[in-house]
Amino acid sequence: MKIPVQRCPWCGSTEFVVGYQGYEAMMTYTPGGFTGKKIKHLICKNCGIVVASQVANTAKYADARRAW
Ligand SMILES: [Zn+2]
Repeated sequence: MKIPVQRCPWCGSTEFVVGYQGYEAMMTYTPGGFTGKKIKHLICKNCGIVVASQVANTAKYADARRAW
């Protein structure tokens, strides 16, 4: 899959790495939920800015027009 950002908006680098956020910081689909998905982050290799985040399988999440 093509990455969603080609150039870091902060430092201009085009080198990126991928990191995963898990455990207590998992993304859940209810406010009190405790089981969830790891968040995948696209990180600039040069300055460390997180330029995009992605959650796998968004099927169970509430529509933002209702839930926000
Ligand atoms: Zn950068």
